[in-house]
Amino acid sequence: MVTQQTPTAILETVRSDPHLPGEVDIVIVGGGIAGVSTALFLAEKGLRVCLCEKGQIGAEQSSRNWGWTRQMGRDPSEMPLSIESMRIWRSFDTQFGIDVGYRETGITYLCRNAREIREAEGWAETGRLFQLPQENLDAKRIADVLPGIEPGFTFALHTISDGRAEPTMAAPAIAAGARARGASILTECAVRGIETAGGRVSAAITERGAIPCSAIVVAGGAWSRLFLGNLGIDFPQLKLLVSAARIDNVSNVPEMPVGGGDFAFRKRLDGGFTIALRNTNIAPIVPDSFRLLPEFLPTFVKSWRELKLRIGRQFVNELAMPRQWALDGETPFERVRVLDPAPHEPFNRRAVRNLRRVFPAFSSARITDDWAGLIDATPDGVPVIDQVEEQPGLFLSSGFSGHGFGIGPGAGMLMAQLIAGETPLVDPAPFRLARFRPNGRKNAIRLTPIAGKA
Ligand SMILES: Cc1cc2nc3c(=O)[nH]c(=O)nc-3n(C[C@H](O)[C@H](O)[C@H](O)COP(=O)(O)OP(=O)(O)OC[C@H]3O[C@@H](n4cnc5c(N)ncnc54)[C@H](O)[C@@H]3O)c2cc1C
Repeated sequence: MVTQQTPTAILETVRSDPHLPGEVDIVIVGGGIAGVSTALFLAEKGLRVCLCEKGQIGAEQSSRNWGWTRQMGRDPSEMPLSIESMRIWRSFDTQFGIDVGYRETGITYLCRNAREIREAEGWAETGRLFQLPQENLDAKRIADVLPGIEPGFTFALHTISDGRAEPTMAAPAIAAGARARGASILTECAVRGIETAGGRVSAAITERGAIPCSAIVVAGGAWSRLFLGNLGIDFPQLKLLVSAARIDNVSNVPEMPVGGGDFAFRKRLDGGFTIALRNTNIAPIVPDSFRLLPEFLPTFVKSWRELKLRIGRQFVNELAMPRQWALDGETPFERVRVLDPAPHEPFNRRAVRNLRRVFPAFSSARITDDWAGLIDATPDGVPVIDQVEEQPGLFLSSGFSGHGFGIGPGAGMLMAQLIAGETPLVDPAPFRLARFRPNGRKNAIRLTPIAGKA
């Protein structure tokens, strides 16, 4: 029998504030890891913050993910932010008193063929460039680092300062930390759009009324493109369906997250494991697949091995979804409080079979739940963390392309610093929205601080 252990069933519920606040400095749209981290670091600076979540805090991608917090495999342009994010994960407990279930266990990636070894060795160069503590493991070291593994692997990449956190704990705990520092947190409160005065953002219009503010951060995950589209702003973003499962009844398996070409697992704090088929995702064909084909074609070509194109209900649902709306009636955000797509169960079952071949300890594993999430991908797989140049006072933190859990805390700190006009913890240039505009890479950054120490 399948028990009720889906991420949303065990997600820590953050109750909503009963009333809208008065005027605030910043409204944040979305209570995933990006939104709550931004709220925390803005509230730390003493700014007045209100976070609005259309459903429940963390209920979309941020609770459904595998819980890997890794620098390994990151695009070089994301490395500085990944490194800073790991510092924040480590310090949540000690510096902020927030328990996110973080454990610095290290992460190991096992290579099964020459192509995977070449790719891992290639990435190890990036790791060395950033002085990441890491080790290339040979067959003997693999057996030392991963006791219980079947012999056969001759190469693995092991990053020592990577780790894992608990997705069902993290976003709610960070939201509670933001609230403890003065932020308002509203759930079941969709933001329908924005109001402007003199060309600048002047209010967020929610389903419960207006919140006057001078800045809005869109951290809407898979919904950001739709939200910005209603404002006439193009944000190229497509969704990919990733399935995962929980398994129980396994012991004597490493504490660290381990991936191979066709499996991934992470031990959970509750003793179970989150597992998935690695490098195999479903790309649902939707109307945006055609609209955004020119931008995404190079990615599709590069990742054809990993993507399974599927046409189904989502095409019809998105075709029927309004792309423009007035702010005084129901919007798509209120109609879908939580994106809860059906998992592709055969992938999860295949992942368990693959795992059993590599770690016999998984022979007795039993799937006790399956779920899926829709990840929000940009054409280059790097997020946008930036001011939206077309609309003064509007900021965007989205497009985390399947790895935003790990870098979410750093993204939150960076966004808070950009808004406050402080020196950013990393160079924000790789995260600019303008890179997706014609001649975008040449545009200068023009940030208008709304407050802060400069
Ligand atoms: C199965 C799976 C496995 C993954 N594994 C990993 C991993 O191991 N490591 C890793 O780093 N990343 C992983 N990821 C990716 C990671 O989960 C995401 O990149 C990250 O959670 C994105 O956070 P977010 O805050 O941008 O979006 P989300 O968590 O999706 O949050 C966005 C929120 O905005 C809300 N919202 C949208 N529009 C509105 C509106 N108009 N008004 C109010 N609220 C709104 C939504 O309801 C939602 O709660 C995985 C993802 C999936 C699906």
